[in-house]
Amino acid sequence: MLSFIHNSYPVRVIFGDGTLQSLPDEVTRLGTSRLLIVTTSSQSMIAQEMAKRLGSRVVGIFPGATMHTPIDVTEKAMNLAKETDADAIVAIGGGSVTGLSKAIAVRTDLPQIIIPTTYAGSEMSAILGETKNGEKITQSSERIRPEVVIYDVDLTMNLPVALSGVSGINAIAHAIEALYAKDGTPIINLIALEAIGALARALPVIARTPQDRQARTDALYGAWLAGVCLGSVSMALHHKLCHTLGGSFNLPHAEIHTIVLPHALAYNAPAIPGVMAQLRTALATEDPARTLWDLAGVVGAQRSLAELGMSDDGIDLATERALARPYPNPRPLNREAIRATIARAYAGASPVTA
Ligand code: NAD
Repeated sequence: MLSFIHNSYPVRVIFGDGTLQSLPDEVTRLGTSRLLIVTTSSQSMIAQEMAKRLGSRVVGIFPGATMHTPIDVTEKAMNLAKETDADAIVAIGGGSVTGLSKAIAVRTDLPQIIIPTTYAGSEMSAILGETKNGEKITQSSERIRPEVVIYDVDLTMNLPVALSGVSGINAIAHAIEALYAKDGTPIINLIALEAIGALARALPVIARTPQDRQARTDALYGAWLAGVCLGSVSMALHHKLCHTLGGSFNLPHAEIHTIVLPHALAYNAPAIPGVMAQLRTALATEDPARTLWDLAGVVGAQRSLAELGMSDDGIDLATERALARPYPNPRPLNREAIRATIARAYAGASPVTA
């Protein structure tokens, strides 16, 4: 019996080449006139250029976004938003910048225009993860979900190859978990499969020829679709493991996703035969978990948590934390099997379906 509840979320998306030019019109459309631009220090040049184009409508630039959205950084950006009486946020950058924008929005309800420059997908979600005293706190609210997202392929052309690969696999992870989400729907399934196909085709091409515009377009298109998945349905074991590992050991976000995904999929495989059949088609392979592990190699990513800097006594801690307050998952969580899964990711071994 087919049975589901589907929610559609009203994010306005502008996608293409040179779409950054539409920013002034989008600002006008939102009816805002006092913009706070947020970005990272390494992307402040592009923020300055954007500010020039927007003229007197920009009241401040905050180039201090950092990974994991620490609350002390948010407080500084909040001070600037208050001092300048900003009435909207324009965020240009990766998931870290989007995180800062969302952190301001949840406190102020200011509208957000997000201009993503990686494949993280955060811009389509109503989820915010923040860190305070080394602890990651996640919340979800419609105040967090951005109003407008401008995807401009031009801004991704120089995304470094290494970051392109891991960020793209981070996006694939959103789509894969959407396929077996407890609140999954037929539309999200179609979107997820399209996302996985587009990203899996594009990432090896980008690794060889980073300036391939068609591959860059496919990857950003896949990232948007994967973001829709992340923003629409619940994530499962894979995301729980990544949040646990990132929060406990301060490891880089997209890199953890890349290492863990083949192993988390192999863990769930016995419980999701229908999804595995769909993945075989989408990835054109007999063994989707192995193909994702191979893809990490093709894009030049690290395959072991040890290489990322985790120590082996972290395996037990990560197991305990992954089992505490678990996310809903298609296969029941078995302590020994979860520990073995983390241990394989730690060692950089190939995935094994148990
Ligand atoms: P990031 O935003 O931390 O960016 C990594 C680095 O790449 C930064 O130094 C940035 O300045 C640089 N960079 C970004 N785009 C670039 C470009 N086009 N060219 C050159 N350099 C560029 O990395 P990320 O993987 O995009 O985001 C990770 C963060 O996003 C994590 O904090 C994670 O928790 C969060 N996230 C949140 C969600 C959500 O739904 N809440 C989803 C995914 C990721």
